[in-house]
Amino acid sequence: SQEQTPQQIAGLVYNDIEDIKEINAGLRKAFLTGKTRSLEYRKNQLKQLSFMLNDNQDAIVEAIRKDLGRARFESVFAEVMGTTTEIIDAIHNLDKWAKTEKPWSGMAWAMHGAAVRKEPKGTVLVLGAWNYPISVQVGPLIGAIAAGCTAVLKPSEVSPNSARLLAELWPKYMDPETTRVVNGAIPETTALLDCRWEHIFYTGNGTVGRIVAEKAAKWLCPTTLELGGKSPAFVDESANISIAAHRILWGKSLNCGQTCIAPDYVLCTKAVQEKLVEELKKAAAEFWPESKGGVVKSDDYGRIINHGHWKRLNQMIGGTGGRIVMGGEKDESSKMLAPTVVADVPRDDAIMQGEIFGPVLPIVTVRDVQDAVDFINSRDQPLALYSFGSSKATQELFDGTRSGAAVQGDVLVHFAVGSLPFGGTGPSGYGSYHGKGSFDTFSHQRATLNAPHTGIMGKIVEKLMAARYPPYTNANLAQ
Ligand code: NAD
Repeated sequence: SQEQTPQQIAGLVYNDIEDIKEINAGLRKAFLTGKTRSLEYRKNQLKQLSFMLNDNQDAIVEAIRKDLGRARFESVFAEVMGTTTEIIDAIHNLDKWAKTEKPWSGMAWAMHGAAVRKEPKGTVLVLGAWNYPISVQVGPLIGAIAAGCTAVLKPSEVSPNSARLLAELWPKYMDPETTRVVNGAIPETTALLDCRWEHIFYTGNGTVGRIVAEKAAKWLCPTTLELGGKSPAFVDESANISIAAHRILWGKSLNCGQTCIAPDYVLCTKAVQEKLVEELKKAAAEFWPESKGGVVKSDDYGRIINHGHWKRLNQMIGGTGGRIVMGGEKDESSKMLAPTVVADVPRDDAIMQGEIFGPVLPIVTVRDVQDAVDFINSRDQPLALYSFGSSKATQELFDGTRSGAAVQGDVLVHFAVGSLPFGGTGPSGYGSYHGKGSFDTFSHQRATLNAPHTGIMGKIVEKLMAARYPPYTNANLAQ
């Protein structure tokens, strides 16, 4: 008998392709009823979303454990808590965000009542990635619901246990007339992309990102592309190397390195490299003590998503021209791969080509901060740039390069700061979200005027504006 796919094992049921057009049509119709225009309705749906996450925390943790072997703490902390905080923030701020703005337009337009209405774009599609099945899949929906859109969430089939759970829970909490979960793989996603949407929010890799953007172009549909890339971490001699090592190792091992903003590689001088490697080893011994079997036996360390990615990462380690100075332990059957540090990695090494997206940390040595700047600028703009350098070096690094985000002294944590836009630049994506930024992403800023045209005011304004009508005289311009 044929081997079962992970989707079959998880019991993930795909939607019928034939139904997808109808789902889209239903959501478009529901949008036009005006149901989602009410702020009370939106707040209620946001509350329901937070109840869904919190009532089912154990089921979520279990689904992610099955998909990614992830520890309970990591799932609760990085998915349920973070997403719930964002939902509560949206509920509290919605009145303010949705309020019509009345910009001062100058004396010439003072009587025209210029205003910017925050209106929902319409019916939107959210395509999620497998690595954080709640925060990067459900997360964008917060903005869509807050803005008053109707929406489809298409979870990644690569994390099938989470995708199945979302499909089961969603209709129990959310209004199926206005938001739906649709499951499937490439054919179903293609059918979704062939429908008309008013925004597509895609999280994943750049190859599919380009497919999404092309499909969206047919409808002139705006898109947000949350992609990945190789995010560097710069470390210099001014750093507290022990703290830098703890934070970098945490960022590289959380979710087994399968984090879009994980530090992909380190840039430092030869002298710093030596100290950093020692401190990375010490940090690893603290995180996963030998007395409890080390990282290999630890319940606090996740697994690689599937055998394909596990093999890709091991080939990468096998083919490197650098020195493996830490880790390398692996087990194919459980898809375990220990955090692996590779020192003295040549700049053109295979490991330095694509995004690693796993627990492998190459160190590339540089002469100084300018050398680091030149190296970063010779490559695609990363999603994040981290610096454990002196203030001066960090300034040089941030001023001299481009990246989605730039963080001094830590890694990953900017994702949690709701007041900051989260997104890439260049090949790491475009558009951003989180906090008010999510609301804005799914809103249209509708320009409105209320020009006096009746009664006495209408007559006064008509007189003031009369110079615009032909026949023209040069005097018109002088007025
Ligand atoms: P993935 O394979 O789960 O793909 C994402 C979505 O695209 C899924 O819903 C999938 O069904 C769909 N898809 C896949 N192939 C398709 C095709 N040919 N046509 C249409 N749709 C298709 O996820 P992935 O790309 O492996 O995710 C990992 C990448 O995502 C990494 O590069 C990572 O950095 C990036 N990522 C970015 C962020 C961010 O917020 N910027 C967050 C998480 C992950």
